[in-house]
Amino acid sequence: MTEIIETDVVVVGGGPCGSTVSTLVAQQGHRVVLLEKERFPRYQIGESLLPSTVQGICRLLGVSDKLDAAGFPLKRGGTFRWGANPEPWTFAFGISPKFAGTASTAYQVERMKFDQILLDNAREHGVDVREEHAVTDVVEEGGRVVGVKCTDADGVRREIRARYVVDASGNTSRIHTRVGGKRQYSEFFRNIALFGYFTGGKRMPAPVSGNILAVAFESGWFWYIPLSDELTSVGVVLHPDALERIRGDRERALLDLIAECPMIADYLSDAERVTSGPYGEIRVRKDYSYIQEKFWRPGLVLAGDAACFIDPVFSSGVHLATYSGLLAARSLNTALRGTDDADETALFEEFELRYRQEYARFHDFLVAFYDKHSDEQSYFWKAKKVTGSAASEVQSFVDLVGGGSSDERALVDAGSYLDRRDGEIDDMIWAVAEAGARIQVQAATGSTEDEQVPIRAGGLVPSTDGLHWSLPGRTAA
Ligand code: FAD
Repeated sequence: MTEIIETDVVVVGGGPCGSTVSTLVAQQGHRVVLLEKERFPRYQIGESLLPSTVQGICRLLGVSDKLDAAGFPLKRGGTFRWGANPEPWTFAFGISPKFAGTASTAYQVERMKFDQILLDNAREHGVDVREEHAVTDVVEEGGRVVGVKCTDADGVRREIRARYVVDASGNTSRIHTRVGGKRQYSEFFRNIALFGYFTGGKRMPAPVSGNILAVAFESGWFWYIPLSDELTSVGVVLHPDALERIRGDRERALLDLIAECPMIADYLSDAERVTSGPYGEIRVRKDYSYIQEKFWRPGLVLAGDAACFIDPVFSSGVHLATYSGLLAARSLNTALRGTDDADETALFEEFELRYRQEYARFHDFLVAFYDKHSDEQSYFWKAKKVTGSAASEVQSFVDLVGGGSSDERALVDAGSYLDRRDGEIDDMIWAVAEAGARIQVQAATGSTEDEQVPIRAGGLVPSTDGLHWSLPGRTAA
């Protein structure tokens, strides 16, 4: 007989998206069950993070101290040998006032460690995390999704019934089709990635030694990500025409490609490839840019890679996964609390619209960035164009690739939400502080945008605690 468990929200997948959404919903006192098919730590690609995740979402999750203690290399920006300029060029997140001071850094992470920290943190916030539970299908009743079916490592089957199901099970999701519509694969970004790990690779000089290095060459481009003093993640992204080159001996193919790219060959001249353990395998991923036609239907929400993914050149994957986790949590928290402000459709449309908008910014910018005959100035100009920012071209670029172009306070100034949640200041003082903070941001960025302004007519805005949606002008949590 199938065991049946009742809860408020069931989250499928314990990656950064699943941990984010489940923690932010559990923080509001709702019951959350998270089902993860693997036992952590498990391998995952996606090691270069953005400040919006590290300094924004991770602060909301209450996990910053644990990340600091983990000793991940500090990433201050990126260094690119890309475009018409034959010399490498570097940007620092810190040049944008949005990422001022401590908000200007991110980490390079071993995902086995990072994802474990986020999942443990979800448990500590009351999420009922069940590893080695593979979801096989959703349960539907009367046109609404009302739960999922899963099987654990002992073959025991369970049905978890919930008011909402979140599919955060990534690019290999088994249930994303149940939302309706298709996963549309990009015609433009039909690339292949081939990647492995090395010890003893060179480092750029301080203070940029923790930067991601991206190097374009004849056949595609390389990433070079320092994961510790010793360990480096090295991957090459190739056009699909190159598929033949990587069939067969992957190690030979990777080494040959490294030899074709003088800068990466030099950085790895004294390095050895890791050949055992979780980093010993040379892995391939292909056809990895897509977007789902629909992100939700009654009872079911797709977030993170389950909904969409865009080419990794600007390390946007975990940013999109954690930001969409926050957006979904707002819709879930507001729906579960019950509100006169908006019905379920309005709440989940707000989630979908904002997630699509952030995805589209990266997509449209990246299409221009893959024109390798342009120079950095024209890339910066394009960033300003796709974000519609009033800031300078270079700042628009840094805001975009740092994950801060949406003018979401949660991504660049999460502390202001936390102060308010802690109740350290009363409402009146808060109102004054908020107005002051906005003026400061506006002065620094030259922006007249206010994040409490809806992004469409009749749209919703984040509440004062950052964890619900409200009508404009009525932003109390
Ligand atoms: P995932 O991290 O995929 O987590 C999904 C979880 O769901 C997994 O733990 C999985 O085991 C579980 N799951 C799957 N199916 C089931 C099931 N049926 N039942 C229960 N659980 C299930 N992003 C960056 O930010 N920086 C980078 O440098 C970067 N580089 C990349 C390079 C390449 C080549 C590629 C392809 C991607 C890269 N990414 C990068 C993207 C990054 O890997 C993803 O965007 C990110 O991991 C998405 O997080 P997620 O939580 O949505 O999904």
